[in-house]
Amino acid sequence: MTQIHADRARCEGYGNCVMAAPELVDLDDDGVVILIRDRVDEAEVSKAESAVRACPVNALRVDK
Ligand code: SF4
Repeated sequence: MTQIHADRARCEGYGNCVMAAPELVDLDDDGVVILIRDRVDEAEVSKAESAVRACPVNALRVDK
């Protein structure tokens, strides 16, 4: 199972990842990324990878 990880300390709240994969990530009340789910179905891997690519500060990572 693929997993997505978020480094909340690194996140600067741009929200690009939320635009790319709203099913997987969101921003909390402080504007810091939170994971809606950390396990990613096979069908959603490319979506998770889009969120990783969208982050300008490399706060997201996908492990297969
Ligand atoms: S794109 Fe990166 S910096 Fe922006 S909210 Fe998502 S994790 Fe945080």
